[in-house]
Amino acid sequence: MNAIGKPSRGAYRVVDHTYDVVVVGAGGAGLRATFGMGAAGLKTACITKVFPTRSHTVAAQGGIGAALGNMGEDDWRWHMYDTVKGSDWLGDQDAIEYMCREAIPAVIELEHYGVPFSRTEDGRIYQRPFGGHMKHFGKEPAMRACAAADRTGHAILHTLYQQSLKHGCEFFVEYFALDLLMDDDGTCRGVIAWCLEDGTIHRFRAQLTVLATGGYGRAYFSCTSAHTCTGDGNAMVLRAGLPLQDQEFVQFHPTGIYGAGCLITEGARGEGGYLTNSEGERFMERYAPTAKDLASRDVVSRAMSMEIREGRGCGPHKDHVLLHLEHLGADILHERLPGISETAKIFAGVDVTKEPIPVLPTVHYNMGGIPTNIHTEVLDPTPDDEDRVVPGLMAVGEAACVSVHGANRLGTNSLLDLVVFGRAAAHRAAEIVRPGARQPPLPPGAGEQSLDRLDRLRHAKGGTPTAELRLQMQRTMQTHAAVFRTSALLREGVEKMRKIWAGMSDLRVTDRSMIWNSDLVETLELENLMGNAMTTIVSAEARKESRGAHAHEDYPERDDENWLKHTLAWCDAEGNVRLGYRGVKLRTLTNEVQVFPPKARVY
Ligand SMILES: Cc1cc2nc3c(=O)[nH]c(=O)nc-3n(C[C@H](O)[C@H](O)[C@H](O)COP(=O)(O)OP(=O)(O)OC[C@H]3O[C@@H](n4cnc5c(N)ncnc54)[C@H](O)[C@@H]3O)c2cc1C
Repeated sequence: MNAIGKPSRGAYRVVDHTYDVVVVGAGGAGLRATFGMGAAGLKTACITKVFPTRSHTVAAQGGIGAALGNMGEDDWRWHMYDTVKGSDWLGDQDAIEYMCREAIPAVIELEHYGVPFSRTEDGRIYQRPFGGHMKHFGKEPAMRACAAADRTGHAILHTLYQQSLKHGCEFFVEYFALDLLMDDDGTCRGVIAWCLEDGTIHRFRAQLTVLATGGYGRAYFSCTSAHTCTGDGNAMVLRAGLPLQDQEFVQFHPTGIYGAGCLITEGARGEGGYLTNSEGERFMERYAPTAKDLASRDVVSRAMSMEIREGRGCGPHKDHVLLHLEHLGADILHERLPGISETAKIFAGVDVTKEPIPVLPTVHYNMGGIPTNIHTEVLDPTPDDEDRVVPGLMAVGEAACVSVHGANRLGTNSLLDLVVFGRAAAHRAAEIVRPGARQPPLPPGAGEQSLDRLDRLRHAKGGTPTAELRLQMQRTMQTHAAVFRTSALLREGVEKMRKIWAGMSDLRVTDRSMIWNSDLVETLELENLMGNAMTTIVSAEARKESRGAHAHEDYPERDDENWLKHTLAWCDAEGNVRLGYRGVKLRTLTNEVQVFPPKARVY
């Protein structure tokens, strides 16, 4: 153990470690990568700020998409078409091809690793319909979501954790990763973390660092994601001077419980649930005549918002709509949707066998994130080389932007993204990392800057408590960068966010200790959220079209001529955002399928 940091404030006790690979995050993406790397004979560490099985993946309900065809015809090319269409053509088609084809072996592997999927009568994996998933290139609903009742994420996460332990991976639980350790030549050399339990600082040197830190739903006031979803990895990337991609695309899930924000899975509509307005009308029939309640999420969320705006919302404030499940009968609800029956009881006081659930669109998923190629290697695009790789750094899961979800993600495609690209990361690592290879020493002073930052926040003596500034940010994002956007709203939102950013210099942290200091953790998380929020709203303000989740009322049409491109956003320590753009990959990897050229998106 040695000590670094400014002696004036007391040096920090630092422990150094060396691994072949260090994975930050133990959700579905992190664990799939961790155990795959362990299985490939690499000395692998996994760092996580919460116990692995408490990661947000545990909350995933509805299912994981794969064209297994267990319950009627299916084809991975239809899955690919649906995903391209769902993405409103912003997804990279080579990555989508890879994900939809690999979905089949990746899910069968999960079954063999021990995921307790629900079963069909003849013993195969049970599959249910889900929004935007169709047969025959969009003609009729497909049964594609492989489900373990309505607790699919729980089942997958526990299995992956068991597999990681079996393969000898080492876990550093309740360690908060602060920053990447970058070399002067732009190579990532590892990560620096704070052990929440004893206050020590740890530098992990590795040939490869994998960020699997999840999304940043908590930048918004109402979201379905866990309190831990604060975009830490994305912020580490920004601080390393690298860009984030497509941050303006934030998914609102149609059915968050009114008031509480907890999720009612789309699987509920997959099993036959439907929405009504204050007139008792099944309004989705008007907006999406074919897919109806199972149109993709952006479409349903916008339809609900329109109904509420036009005065057909329910309740005394006419501010939500109703989700009906009561007609499905108690047996089906008990067997297929036990978790959400419980959630509705606790958070809405509703018995789903008798009455409908009040619901409202709620932030659910971040399509944007750290740009990567299909091998999950992080990109640092330049005008000459859009696909330039950052040596030593990978990103997977919701933190990453491969991009398979483009402007709007289809339900069940995130769990799939975690598993397919977690696996791809392990495959790539096995190719490029030599087990036990000697590593050069860390650059002099590695991690000093992060400790300065930690120190600054730990001793912050301003007038604004962290929770207060966080609330200002969350309310601003909820009001100015939500389901419907206008130029005026976005411009005003950017100005407000600049003021809130400036407010960070006036933060007050009251607990100065290094042990279980949740005040300091939340402050670090707030700083991380701010980078995510700022890049989101600035990227949104710049995009003058409507595409997927970005519905711009002043520019209601999709504009492929000018905007069929990914946004790149860099953000400096003062909150100044610089934007750039990068082409969408309209190409395939094999000749088993052809590119789907952009066309109008109707459901
Ligand atoms: C309620 C809900 C239901 C969903 N249902 C579905 C579904 O049915 N199907 C589907 O496909 N998708 C679903 N999704 C989306 C999907 O579950 C998530 O996108 C996905 O689980 C994210 O996984 P992840 O591995 O990227 O990150 P997470 O599961 O969020 O894990 C992030 C990990 O990073 C660690 N971490 C973060 N920051 C730090 C740090 N600074 N230091 C150390 N560790 C850190 C955390 O400890 C955690 O282990 C759902 C999402 C929600 C919120």
